[in-house]
Amino acid sequence: VSEVDDLKKKLAMSSRMLFNAELVDYSGHISVRMPGSQQFLILPHPVSRATVTADDMVVADFEGNLVQGKYRAPSEVYMHARAYKARDDVQSVAHLHNHMVAVLTMVDKPFIPASSNPGAFFGSGPMPVYMDPALIHTVEQGDAVALTLGKGDAVMLRGHGSMVVGQSIEWVFAACVDLEEAASRFYKASLLGQVRVYSEDETQRVIRARRKDSVVQKIWDHNVAKTKLAGLMEGIG
Ligand SMILES: [Zn+2]
Repeated sequence: VSEVDDLKKKLAMSSRMLFNAELVDYSGHISVRMPGSQQFLILPHPVSRATVTADDMVVADFEGNLVQGKYRAPSEVYMHARAYKARDDVQSVAHLHNHMVAVLTMVDKPFIPASSNPGAFFGSGPMPVYMDPALIHTVEQGDAVALTLGKGDAVMLRGHGSMVVGQSIEWVFAACVDLEEAASRFYKASLLGQVRVYSEDETQRVIRARRKDSVVQKIWDHNVAKTKLAGLMEGIG
């Protein structure tokens, strides 16, 4: 099995896992950089995120053009394209229509993930919000999202969802799970009172235990098992 075939399979798995975790619906997508190139593999526009196969993946370039594939790329392909262009360290990108994160973008209250352990994955301080609610359909909009992301792991998109980046498909998947859990806890805690935000020292101590390959792999393996139990891992390709 070639490295590219392996990445296509992992993309299909992660898509079904994101669907099973209710982090994408009929839309939302994950992509991965093609090793040593100015191109990336991404889910196609029309295929269900719950049934997509390795063979369905398409190739796009950093200008958002379709390079190869039997389907067209998602209309928001520019979000991925320009994140890779802006950040050499980014190997994988996910765009989620994640419910709790989207809810938190609808109020004028900063979301500080480092008030729960999953949220500390993202470090201290409020999560950046890209304020334009329009869908990301151009290179310029993609650049603007990448600018708001900065050097971080995630950016919230007002009234829409989020974009999560990382060093591998597994890392991005784990970050997607942690982000939604942190948002959900933050929302509930906010209803009860003032949220106790972690200090810088507390954040760093939690982060050291959380941002590890072993934790990322555990989150990945658990969701592989969960998605298999849901009957959604057949015929990946
Ligand atoms: Zn979207």
